[in-house]
Amino acid sequence: MPTLSIQPRARIFHGHVWVYATEIKGRFGEPKPGDVVQLQDARGKPIGSAIYNPQSQISARLFSYRRQDLDLDFFKRRIERALKSRVDAGVDTSLCRVVWSESDGLPGVIVDRYGDHLVLQTLTLAMAQRQDIIVQALVEVFSPTSIVQRNEGNVRKAEGLDQVKGVIHGETPAPFVVRHQGSAFHADLIEGQKTGLYLDQLDNYQRVASLAKGRRVLDCFSNQGGFAQACSLAGASEVTAVDISESATALAEKNAEISGAKIKFIAANCFDFLKQQESSGASYDLIILDPPSFTKTKASVSDAMRGYKEIHLRAIKMLQPGGIMATFSCSHHVSTGDFHESIVDAAVDARKTLRRVTTYSQRQDHPILATIPETQYLTGFAYEVIASW
Ligand code: SAH
Repeated sequence: MPTLSIQPRARIFHGHVWVYATEIKGRFGEPKPGDVVQLQDARGKPIGSAIYNPQSQISARLFSYRRQDLDLDFFKRRIERALKSRVDAGVDTSLCRVVWSESDGLPGVIVDRYGDHLVLQTLTLAMAQRQDIIVQALVEVFSPTSIVQRNEGNVRKAEGLDQVKGVIHGETPAPFVVRHQGSAFHADLIEGQKTGLYLDQLDNYQRVASLAKGRRVLDCFSNQGGFAQACSLAGASEVTAVDISESATALAEKNAEISGAKIKFIAANCFDFLKQQESSGASYDLIILDPPSFTKTKASVSDAMRGYKEIHLRAIKMLQPGGIMATFSCSHHVSTGDFHESIVDAAVDARKTLRRVTTYSQRQDHPILATIPETQYLTGFAYEVIASW
């Protein structure tokens, strides 16, 4: 069995599952890209089984603390275990991320379930090479009508893999409408942005909407209007939703027609919109900010921080005492602490006092592992502007 020995003090000894190229001390048995390798410490003590790809900076990813092959039985066990954890957490598993990579002991495998349809991503070389076995395991566990692959994105590039999408099992699903807690969404599993919906935010729509009754709501970066619809249906007095994408705005309009939500949709750049609204003296009672990740790399964190600061400042200035800002960050490279700091900076500049209403995180179908900080990426806060002392 090919083996890697790992440098002392590597993150794998602190509960992480990644081995960086620089943390490899020696290679034995000529491991090939995509192989299962055994990991051992510098003294030869076994650590576990990992997948190997020397082309990636993350050259090995541990998936078991035992000696383990990647066979059908293994994939079925891991998928069933992942599914059970969602059921136990009370997540609606008919609209759900049923497998999330390292968080479910399957590095590079992501599976989203939209009723009878599954969307599969294999983002590591070893898992891409074993995609057929994974598909078989999924068929046995879920008996889906179709499985679509969405094998795109930078992670695949880093692993030296192609960009491919399309049906790999069953029928081609036509775009369809998904209903969730009264709201409507269009799912286009093959052409849609991401896999069609933001599953990680589904629970937060209701939580934010619980603050919306009787309020004038502004939903910035609204995409298909998940927050806007939930707020309108929860009794907001008026709702405005803004997104730069014309196509997302058009879909969101159709969604609102189906769900009965009353929303004014605007296709615009939120930075421009917020600036213009603030300078024209507009005011709202609840402002939701859910921008895309402002940074894909550590190098551009300071740009992201400027972006957050700007939208926070403009939002806070448009809130009167009693008004609430619900703001989210999904930037992997911006820590919760840094994100919070940008709220603090904005409050200081705006000379307003903010009182915490609540905090938000990703839905439980994106499990957070204590020893893998990268598994926590979505963070949010609701703050109320209070009257000055
Ligand atoms: N709140 C949404 C998800 C938002 S994803 C939900 O839960 O469904 C981020 C959205 O921001 C995308 O729809 C994208 O089109 C939009 N976007 C990106 N840059 C923008 C900008 N500068 N102004 C407005 N919208 C923008």
